Amino acid sequence: MQAAAAAVHRPHLLGAYPGGGRARRPSSTVRMALREDGPSVAIVGATGAVGQEFLRVISSRGFPYRSLRLLASERSAGKRLPFEGQEYTVQDLAAPGAFDGVDIALFSAGGGVSRAHAPAAVASGAVVVDNSSAFRMDPEVPLVIPEVNPEAMAHVRLGKGAIVANPNCSTIICLMAATPLHRHAKVVRMVVSTYQAASGAGAAAMEELKLQTQEVLAGKAPTCNIFSQQYAFNIFSHNAPIVENGYNEEEMKMVKETRKIWNDKDVKVTATCIRVPVMRAHAESVNLQFEKPLDEDTAREILRAAEGVTIIDDRASNRFPTPLEVSDKDDVAVGRIRQDLSQDDNKGLDIFVCGDQIRKGAALNAVQIAEMLLK
Ligand code: NAP
Repeated sequence: MQAAAAAVHRPHLLGAYPGGGRARRPSSTVRMALREDGPSVAIVGATGAVGQEFLRVISSRGFPYRSLRLLASERSAGKRLPFEGQEYTVQDLAAPGAFDGVDIALFSAGGGVSRAHAPAAVASGAVVVDNSSAFRMDPEVPLVIPEVNPEAMAHVRLGKGAIVANPNCSTIICLMAATPLHRHAKVVRMVVSTYQAASGAGAAAMEELKLQTQEVLAGKAPTCNIFSQQYAFNIFSHNAPIVENGYNEEEMKMVKETRKIWNDKDVKVTATCIRVPVMRAHAESVNLQFEKPLDEDTAREILRAAEGVTIIDDRASNRFPTPLEVSDKDDVAVGRIRQDLSQDDNKGLDIFVCGDQIRKGAALNAVQIAEMLLK
């Protein structure tokens, strides 16, 4: 039965995935995007993990820009960063006039920085695409995944200051896979368990995982600066603070943001978010309960047609999505697509989703939002 299923449901593999099918732009392609008719772009947090990914995505997608301003804290001001054949000097975000003449400001320097500086960017006429959680739940601020709810930012115009929020990385990865199924059969309840990588906590966390791995293998005590406990060769509950109801903030983001993005205050969502010692890309186990029946073959067809989704679901060779396989890729990968046996009438499905959370979970999603402003 399993072998037959695998034969029928051949894995749908893209680009650099094994056995690659549909051609896609490799992330390493460098295309000069400096153009007189492009917008003036500022990157806030340009020296960070997401900031650096913004630059890679801008380059690989050929996102047009007339000028580029790289902003960070006083610590990095003066540092020189090469990009597309030019050298840029990192500027202090707090210096006067940081947003003068800027059309689009991609923010990724933490919630406090966004709260302190996004209003100034908006006042100077820029559209801010914010990666932090600072404005996500503000009813005036659209929370957008371009493949899911582009209509939410239909009123945002270049030249008129505004903020558009990028959802939390785990929410983006989950909803990229769940939304096409939701559109078909309406999700009434979603149970998510995450396996989150070091990269989600920034460049310093990735360094700490590397260092700890070397230390533990050498029989030394691990250095714990970013996380309060050993990360290498361990897993632990996500480091976000626990709130009053016992959930942590990462879990509550998935609950609240899903309701806002789907514009459905009744959808039931529960999540358990866990850090695993993976360098880059998150994995998520997602259980979906639907209002209407949805069989797994139909689900597979829906996901095969979904933009930004790749299926890796080869039962015969036990090959399913992994964080390594999706690292540096645009698409989220979905596998383990199966009927939930505990639910009647084909009204439940289990899926396993992996996505590069620095890329689709942050930088790519933000640049796609910026692209929508140019249309
Ligand atoms: P990161 O690697 O630690 O980088 C932080 C960046 O913010 C650096 O460029 C840093 O500049 C800058 N910064 C910090 N304090 C600043 C200040 N006071 N003024 C100006 N710049 C300041 O962190 P990250 O992973 O890129 O994440 C940044 C933000 O994106 C966070 O809000 C995070 O929640 C969000 N996010 C991250 C991910 C992810 O996968 N990592 C996904 C979605 C959203 P210096 O070099 O000067 O210190």
